[in-house]
Amino acid sequence: MPLVPVPDLIAAARPGGLAAFNVIALEHAEAIAAAAEAAKRPAILQISQNTVRYHGGLKPLARACLAIAEDSSAALAVHLDHATERTLITAAVQLGITSVMYDGSTLAYAENLDSTADIARWCHERDVFVEAELGEVGGKDGAHAPGVRTDPDEAVAFVAATGVDALAVAVGSSHAMHTRDARLDDELIARLAAKVPVPLVLHGSSGVPDAGLRSAVEHGMTKINIATRLNVVLGEAIREVLAADDRLSDPRRYLGPGRAAVQAELERFLRLLA
Ligand SMILES: [Zn+2]
Repeated sequence: MPLVPVPDLIAAARPGGLAAFNVIALEHAEAIAAAAEAAKRPAILQISQNTVRYHGGLKPLARACLAIAEDSSAALAVHLDHATERTLITAAVQLGITSVMYDGSTLAYAENLDSTADIARWCHERDVFVEAELGEVGGKDGAHAPGVRTDPDEAVAFVAATGVDALAVAVGSSHAMHTRDARLDDELIARLAAKVPVPLVLHGSSGVPDAGLRSAVEHGMTKINIATRLNVVLGEAIREVLAADDRLSDPRRYLGPGRAAVQAELERFLRLLA
C-alpha cells in the first residue's frame, strides 16, 4: 500500500506502541515488511545518518525501503533517523521519505531550538513529520552518561518553540546496548506524557527488557526505536551458519537465515508492543 503518514501509524498502533526498526542492509527492510504483515501491525523502517555514511549515500537504500514499504500489505512509513545535516533531510524529502528526525541534541540549547524550528517549518510545508531531540539519549558517541533525563517543563517549551511533531526523550535508555538491563524511569515517562502535547520517542530500546518496554508504552511512550537488538540476532544467526561450514561462501546461504532470525525477533517485538 502507499506509505502511511506517521500520525496514522501512531493511531493504528494505539493503545500499543509504534515500533520503528533501523535498516542497514536490504535484508532488514525485507524482514520488517514481512514481520509487519505477519503480525498485522504498523511499523516504521528507518535509516540513520550513520547508515547513509556506511553506504556512501542515501538514495539506494532509501529507494529500496520505499519500494518495499509500498509493495507491502502492511501499514509502513520510511523515516530518516538521527540526521544532523540539513542537506541530508532535504535529500530524504526529495526522495519521498515522509518522516525525519533532526538531531540537534549536541548543539547548545538555543542553537538546537533555532535550527529545529527552521527545519520543522521547512518540513511541514512539505507534509513531512518531524521528530527532534532534547537532552541527548545516553550512549551515542559517549557524549552523555545514561543518567541524563529530560526535564518536562523544558520539553514543553521546546515543543512549543519548535513546532515538532514528536520528541525523543532521555528517560534511562542508552544507544547500542547489547545487554537488556536498562531501567526506565516510568514515573518520568508518565509526567512527560501528561505535559508534552506530542508523541514521545524512546531511543536505545534494545537495552530495555521486554517488561520495561511494555511498561514504557503503558506509561505513555509512543514510538519505540529498535536497532541494536536486531543486529545481535542477525550476527548470532550468521555466525552459527558460517561456523557449521567453513567452505560456505554464497551470501544467500547465511544472509537468508540471518534475515529469518531478524524477522522472528521483529514479530516478537511487534506483538510485545501491541
Ligand atoms: Zn537513536
